[in-house]
Amino acid sequence: MQRLIFIEPGRLDWEHIVAPILQGPDEALVRPKIMGRCDLDTLYLSGRMPMATGEPIGHEIIGIITDLGENAANHFKVGQTVIVPSQISCGICRMCRAGETGRCEAVPLGASYGMGRDGDYGGGVAELVHVPFATGMLVPIPEDADHASMMGLTDMATDAWRAVGPQLDARPGGTVLVMGGAAPVIGIYAAALAITLGASRTVYVDSSERNRDAAKAYGAETFTVIEEVPIPSFDIVVDAAGDTDALLAAIHACGPAAHLTSVAPPFKAPDFPLMEMYYKGLNYTLARPNCRHGHGPALKAWSCGGFKPNLIGPKVFNFEEATKAWLDPALYVAVTA
Ligand SMILES: [Zn+2]
Ligand SMILES: [Zn+2]
Repeated sequence: MQRLIFIEPGRLDWEHIVAPILQGPDEALVRPKIMGRCDLDTLYLSGRMPMATGEPIGHEIIGIITDLGENAANHFKVGQTVIVPSQISCGICRMCRAGETGRCEAVPLGASYGMGRDGDYGGGVAELVHVPFATGMLVPIPEDADHASMMGLTDMATDAWRAVGPQLDARPGGTVLVMGGAAPVIGIYAAALAITLGASRTVYVDSSERNRDAAKAYGAETFTVIEEVPIPSFDIVVDAAGDTDALLAAIHACGPAAHLTSVAPPFKAPDFPLMEMYYKGLNYTLARPNCRHGHGPALKAWSCGGFKPNLIGPKVFNFEEATKAWLDPALYVAVTA
């Protein structure tokens, strides 16, 4: 079968490999039907994040189950349409049961599809994907839905939800600031979900006009720089900028007992203003998201809350065009098999 691999920044290629097979009763094989490009992929492709030559790439997957192990067959059917989460998680270990599916104890830390991580789980832009824990991972979705319109729910909306959802539950009607940039879709989705979940004020800051326009379409107030924002004090702050100064600005924009989440932390840490953070009582979350744990609330925001992940795309290409689609300047792209 064919799968998409990373060669170097700005260049991808196809690799022919032996198709995966089932090796245990809890496993599944899924044939990807539509595959999205995550903000993270664009960071690999621009060279901002390192990836080794030859690593499979892509981790946003909606597909059709083609084979099931004996136990997995008690929960799913061949032919069923599912989301395959980007992260590998078993669903039953201590961490998974606590909702910390991004820190599953059954797999190497960081285990994922298509990110060059330990465990050799392959990539998501492929003719077949091996799912090691079908019951813990697979998320059934409506067969009759427009699956391209749901693409953002596979991965980036789960990352965005964790930065605003639990925080707005704890502080209903709170105010939200998103510092956008390096992870544009995740930041825009955080603003969109904040509005869906009842934030009283949602501000999105980004120097990119394209990104600001997308956030504005969801109803966010947008600004080019934090200095333009009136009353820059917020209950909930999302750092999606991937920039040291932006993280510092995000800390300064935190109000008392605010919750700040870095969804795209800078590679170089700022000189943290610890006393400011201490007196504000700032709660700072610096963590890989819990992708599988976020699927329930992200899907609920879509099905019950009116969150429209497709307001920003994706722009859809054919599977064969993936090597060029992944380099397309559109905010969000996908390929369809
Ligand atoms: Zn991702
Ligand atoms: Zn686990």
